[in-house]
Amino acid sequence: MADEIADVIVVGAGNAAFCAALAAQEQGAKVLMLEAAPQQESGGNSRFTAGSIRVVYNGVEDIKTLVPDLTPAEIESTDFGTYTADQFFDDMARVTQHRADPDLVELLVTKSFATLNWLREKGVRFIPIYGRQAFQIDGKFKFWGGLTVESVGGGPGLVAMLTQAAANRGIAIRYGTRALHLLYDGIRVEGVRVRRDGALRELRALSVVLACGGFEANAEWRTRYLGPSWDLAKVRGTRYNTGDGIRMALDIGASSRGNWSGCHAVQWEMNAPEFGDLAVGDQFQKHSYPFGILINGAGKRFIDEGADFRNYTYAKYGRAVLEQPGQFAWQIFDQKVKHLLRDEYKIRQITKVAANTIEEFAQKLDGVNAAEFLKTIEEWNRAVRTDVPFNPNIKDGRCTQGLAVDKSNWANLIDTPPFEGYAVTCGVTFTFGGLRIDTDAAVLSTDYQPIRGLYAAGELIGGLFYFNYPGGTGLMSGAVFGRIAGTSAANGQ
Ligand SMILES: Cc1cc2nc3c(=O)[nH]c(=O)nc-3n(C[C@H](O)[C@H](O)[C@H](O)COP(=O)(O)OP(=O)(O)OC[C@H]3O[C@@H](n4cnc5c(N)ncnc54)[C@H](O)[C@@H]3O)c2cc1C
Repeated sequence: MADEIADVIVVGAGNAAFCAALAAQEQGAKVLMLEAAPQQESGGNSRFTAGSIRVVYNGVEDIKTLVPDLTPAEIESTDFGTYTADQFFDDMARVTQHRADPDLVELLVTKSFATLNWLREKGVRFIPIYGRQAFQIDGKFKFWGGLTVESVGGGPGLVAMLTQAAANRGIAIRYGTRALHLLYDGIRVEGVRVRRDGALRELRALSVVLACGGFEANAEWRTRYLGPSWDLAKVRGTRYNTGDGIRMALDIGASSRGNWSGCHAVQWEMNAPEFGDLAVGDQFQKHSYPFGILINGAGKRFIDEGADFRNYTYAKYGRAVLEQPGQFAWQIFDQKVKHLLRDEYKIRQITKVAANTIEEFAQKLDGVNAAEFLKTIEEWNRAVRTDVPFNPNIKDGRCTQGLAVDKSNWANLIDTPPFEGYAVTCGVTFTFGGLRIDTDAAVLSTDYQPIRGLYAAGELIGGLFYFNYPGGTGLMSGAVFGRIAGTSAANGQ
């Protein structure tokens, strides 16, 4: 691998990197991908995902384009609804409190459908997310929350299909190769310095695309930028995303951008390991909380579990759990909603208690003030608006009234044993702060000029997500900006 020369070097081998590599290759470039992880651990956070992708579609015809093998029976029994560009714009604006960069959002939204079709042409297959994004009511599945398709085989399937697509097109991938520095002569980026098998090498290229993730797996940076206690969060995905790409670019004068103190973080199995486990994938997440309540160690509720559909609250509620004493909470359900719990509640690696009386249950919730918990349940059961019908497919307005922290939707009495509790802590997914790019995905300097030969995509671009995030947007952002970055890098813009 001495002084290997490519037209475009792509750093990383996750979704954004593959999209960049495929797009650059499509322009006729010779592409080399560098991946810090060994092949068996490669694929980045993309491999840990469920493969859910947020995409604009205007009805079943668009879904049929993305999923051509949809059967007539499936079409008949499903209300796919729509997810229009306006809805995607609104979601991005609302959940980021109008901070998301309008130019980046415009690209994300308007290119989402075309980009998924492009990925299909490259060999990536999609299916509707029947399991998690649609509940069956009166024999008909109805999709909700703007998240309707996923890659076949989830994240592992997505990475396998992308890897195959790259191999089919002669794109080389060097695993176990960590990029350390950019080769930069003060005018343009000319390659990267890497470490492989303990040796340092310089790899030359006309352009470099950084697609090597955020800094979520770097406990020191998390504490430095996200704040106190973030060192205590579990990392949901890969241990390789330590902010290298961001650091390399800042070292040569790139401009930082976005919500550096913000991140995507969810409720995650209390006793999960420090980093993600590929055998478990995203199943440590616990995302059925809209149908239950959350209790902290003081025995009190602390958040509106039903403020919105899961897709619009899950990414910020990890932080809420991290802020509780001991950085944990218990998710509480009774039997009435048991059938609504997602598959991830059925895995073996879970901290779960169950009891037939509420008093016995209170004693079993480790670390919780039992007397306060019983008081909370009593008050809760008095506050539920049972006159409003419960409907998990819509924001049903079945709320509580008069509590210090009310619940806005899907409030149910907690009165039907056995009661179940699941212990959760905070799992960090990815960080929001990153590099400033323009609409060609060129990395900008602190003078806001494109740094020649340097492009970026995926988690390490800043300016898209602030405070929160609409589920399924990470993969779409990686795909849209990866494709743009690869195209720009190949054309040397
Ligand atoms: C458990 C989990 C579930 C998720 N579910 C979803 C979902 O269903 N839908 C969705 O849209 N998003 C989901 N996300 C978010 C999504 O994973 C990310 O937004 C997206 O995958 C990021 O893609 P990426 O290519 O930027 O980064 P990654 O896929 O993380 O790829 C970055 C790659 O760079 C490599 N790397 C790092 N440093 C270096 C270096 N110095 N040199 C060389 N290589 C390096 C890493 O090893 C890694 O392979 C989920 C994330 C997690 C952790």
